[in-house]
Amino acid sequence: MRQKLVAGNWKMNLTYAEGQALVTEIAAQAGPAVAAPGAPVVVLCVPFPYLAGVKQQLPESGFYLGAQNCHQKESGAFTGEVSARMLVSVGCDYVILGHSERRQYFHETDDLLAQKLKAALAAGLKPIFCVGESLETREADKTFDYIGKQLTDGLFHLSNEDFAQVVVAYEPIWAIGTGRTATSAQAQEVHAFIRERIARAYTAEAALNTTILYGGSANAQNAKELFAQPDVDGGLIGGAALKAADFTTIIQSF
Ligand code: PGA
Repeated sequence: MRQKLVAGNWKMNLTYAEGQALVTEIAAQAGPAVAAPGAPVVVLCVPFPYLAGVKQQLPESGFYLGAQNCHQKESGAFTGEVSARMLVSVGCDYVILGHSERRQYFHETDDLLAQKLKAALAAGLKPIFCVGESLETREADKTFDYIGKQLTDGLFHLSNEDFAQVVVAYEPIWAIGTGRTATSAQAQEVHAFIRERIARAYTAEAALNTTILYGGSANAQNAKELFAQPDVDGGLIGGAALKAADFTTIIQSF
């Protein structure tokens, strides 16, 4: 059975004190659910300066630490950047790569993301690799072509062994932070497509074992229906991850 997973993406929100208070609440409210047998893996993807401190706060079982980006080089004269190795050294387990906000505002291309993926994997991080189409692409009926290309150019260069460490997140850009969630049928359709492409690029078994998350205005109300879809294995949660009660409900929505 593939791993169910819920990741909270805090983005550039909260002060450190606010973040610490949120982690305390999440650990108290969601801790028992996360420790239960068969529970999803829960990852908190917090801003860089909070990683080491949040790591100290997290209870042992079921909670993992994630970053929201990393640099493609191991070390060196790259002022202001953070390497995958640094992330591992403060206790990070996961890293989000290829989020549409990074692709759009920081001009991250599939080629660059391919390098970042390799760097993350070499350091021992599990990448959460995001793909997703714009509204314009969807309305032009080019969603599958677009996502197929993101997968081929960004992800499918990995070896079988490396690919086994990757979590894929489908995040339609038009649904992120807009309150306009994909319907469960829309999500399922793209997730099934992604799984089929994985089977073609790797093996049927690899496809069955890959965790594929949905992200984009997922919340405490719609998570259950989304997670009930056969190819939706959890969520990458933005806004709703900033409220302990909502995030806890989402974790309990399988
Ligand atoms: P949202 O963000 O849940 O606020 O739409 C999701 C994401 O960007 O990962």
